[in-house]
This record gives sequence, C-alpha cells and structure tokens, in this order.
Amino acid sequence: MINGMKTDTETQNSDMQNDFKMCPICGSKKIKNQENRKWICPDCGFDLYKNVAAAVGVIIEDSHKNILFEVRAKEPRNGFLAIPGGFIDFDESAEEALCRECFEELGVKFDQNDFHYICTFPNTYPYKKIEYKTCDIFFKAELPKKYNSIDDFIKALKPEQSEVLTLCSKRVATEEDIETLPLAFESSAKALKKYLAMQKGEYKR
Ligand SMILES: [Zn+2]
Repeated sequence: MINGMKTDTETQNSDMQNDFKMCPICGSKKIKNQENRKWICPDCGFDLYKNVAAAVGVIIEDSHKNILFEVRAKEPRNGFLAIPGGFIDFDESAEEALCRECFEELGVKFDQNDFHYICTFPNTYPYKKIEYKTCDIFFKAELPKKYNSIDDFIKALKPEQSEVLTLCSKRVATEEDIETLPLAFESSAKALKKYLAMQKGEYKR
C-alpha cells in the first residue's frame, strides 16, 4: 500500500526554506532569520517569532488491542499511517479540535469528555516549503459501545477522501508492533509506546 511513496523525509526537508526574501511590512531586503527562531527587520523593527503549533491525535482502541489508523491521502507522508487528529485552530481547546477533526476526517461525532489525556511529544511537519514545529497532544478514546471491534467501527465511518485514503485496524500489543508500522510521524510512535507502557502499568502518571 505504501510502495512507491516517498520514504525519505530528508529529501523533503532539504527543500525547506522557512525564510522571507523581504520584510512583509516595509519591503526591506535586509530581513534576517535569527537561529530559525525569529525574523527581524533592521529597517522597520519588524519582529516575528516562529512559534510552535499545537496539534492533537487520538488513539482509539478496541478490546482486542486493535487501534484505528488512517492511511494519509496528502503530503507530508502521503500513504503512511496516522492516528486521527490535526492542528488546533485559533481559539479552540485541544478537545474541541479533536471533536472537529474526528467529524471532518471520519464522519463520527465524539463528545469532548470521551477524550482522555495521555501525553505530548514534539513533531516536525514539513508543508509547502515551510517546516512547522509542533507540540502534539495525545488522547485516548474508547471505541463507542455499539461496535465490537475497530473493523466493525470502520464500516460505519465516512472518511474524508482529500485527507484519508483509507482506514485500517492494526494490532498494537508490543513495542515491536509499533516499530513495524509505517507510521507517518515519530511523535505518534512515541505516544503509542507510552500508551502501551501505561496499559501495562509500567508507567505511572
Ligand atoms: Zn521591515
């Protein structure tokens, strides 16, 4: 399913610019990027910080340790596996963002109280020549009671075709299971490992 897809994020990253050629306020070409943290313009005092973007993801698991994954339909990491989620909008809580993303991507309505916090991990998201640094916030959600398994759940979902190529169920019972999954993002792999450790009682919050 992922044969022929780009596997080398390094190639994508070398394309990254993360830069302005001129000041967006006064047009000066003296604008400088300082250590990839901020841009400053010596002519007009323009000063823009490159902030971390917040994103959310949810681990939805059934009683057989199967987890719901999306096969991504767009770059970055087109064709790779991701858990449902996305960027948090302005003036939105993490839980609200997850409700919105689950409805947009899967066509399913969750309540904010269905999501339980697990952990956060940083991530890098290259998109159209800008490399976004994110803080990904991970939650878990129970499979809605009327479904017996993730496969059963998938049959009832209506994935958004521009974002999700298809949905699949993968059994995640060991760290090796996570390492063999073609995951789109390193932060998801780390969150799944932490989730697994928490399930096994090896990690106490
Ligand atoms: Zn300027």
